[in-house]
Amino acid sequence: MNFLKIKSGTSVEGDELKAFRSEKKAPTYTYLMAGTHGDEVEGVYLLQQLYKWLKNDVEEAPCSFVVLPILNVDGYRASTRVNAHGVDLNRNYPTECWTSEVREAKYFPGAAPLSEPENVFLDKLFQKFPPHLIVSFHSWKPFINFNGDCEEAANFISKFNSYEVMGDIEGHPTPGSLGEYGPQKYNSPVLTFECPVISDEITLKDIWNENETAFKELLLSEYVSPPSK
Ligand SMILES: [Zn+2]
Repeated sequence: MNFLKIKSGTSVEGDELKAFRSEKKAPTYTYLMAGTHGDEVEGVYLLQQLYKWLKNDVEEAPCSFVVLPILNVDGYRASTRVNAHGVDLNRNYPTECWTSEVREAKYFPGAAPLSEPENVFLDKLFQKFPPHLIVSFHSWKPFINFNGDCEEAANFISKFNSYEVMGDIEGHPTPGSLGEYGPQKYNSPVLTFECPVISDEITLKDIWNENETAFKELLLSEYVSPPSK
């Protein structure tokens, strides 16, 4: 599949925020994004591999894609969860229950919703290239979190990698998260994919190996198709 570079944005520290879309225009897109949390290299790596595969080996897919390899480029460079303003980008979206309350420093939601240039950039992309599904790659403990109407897609992934599927995570409220924002504002379900964190026991390559088939199958399946009118 051919991809085109979309006009890029700029991070807090002036770095380029890159995004690409399928050459074939569409009314709505499946978003593949990683690096919302800069210290989660695992998700960034998985998406790199998938993007390479889409570009080099896939001729046709059931949808057009927007790919954001790393949203929080400053945090990625500094190996921090938060961006260069110390904001958790996944608590900074203007959702109905956004709150300025800081539960822990690592979840600092920012001074106001959408205060961060990285999220402003993403939101502009959503307006210009509307999403019908957003897949966001993270790492923590392995599970697949679904928000909005994508439980079946989550179950489909789980069939391959046996990760647990969860709706709301008990005891872990996420006000201002993309998982709340996508369905509320854009009527787009969100799959928040959490893979394991690298350690002495598991390498990036291992994590890719245990997820490669799941995602290759997903991206060619009906689960990424635009909703029928
Ligand atoms: Zn994360």
